[in-house]
Amino acid sequence: MHEFSVARSICNIAIEEAHRHNVDRVTGICIEIGVMRQIVPELLRTAFEIAAKGTIMQGAKLEIHDVPVTIKCHDCGQFAASATLQVQCVHCGSTNIEINGGNELLVSSIRVAEEVGHEH
Ligand SMILES: [Zn+2]
Repeated sequence: MHEFSVARSICNIAIEEAHRHNVDRVTGICIEIGVMRQIVPELLRTAFEIAAKGTIMQGAKLEIHDVPVTIKCHDCGQFAASATLQVQCVHCGSTNIEINGGNELLVSSIRVAEEVGHEH
């Protein structure tokens, strides 16, 4: 299942990020996934739970944001964002289009546990 490899990548990115900030407990993670990756959020959540087990990510809340595909029309010059792959410009119907994005896999932020008993 391809959600598992995505979940593992997310974990690796987040753990690296956490280490860079000397964080040893991650409570939440916010990711951006391009719609072209055709991720099933529920499967990804399950895969993430399994991948996070035994790591500093265990029990972290996964927040998933979809990144739409951007379509640029070469005929009318307009842009459109879509949650699905399009074959035509939504403005003029031209098929002379360029498709960008939708393949993103980004960790946009991580939430970490508040330090307990630490005065600032
Ligand atoms: Zn057009």
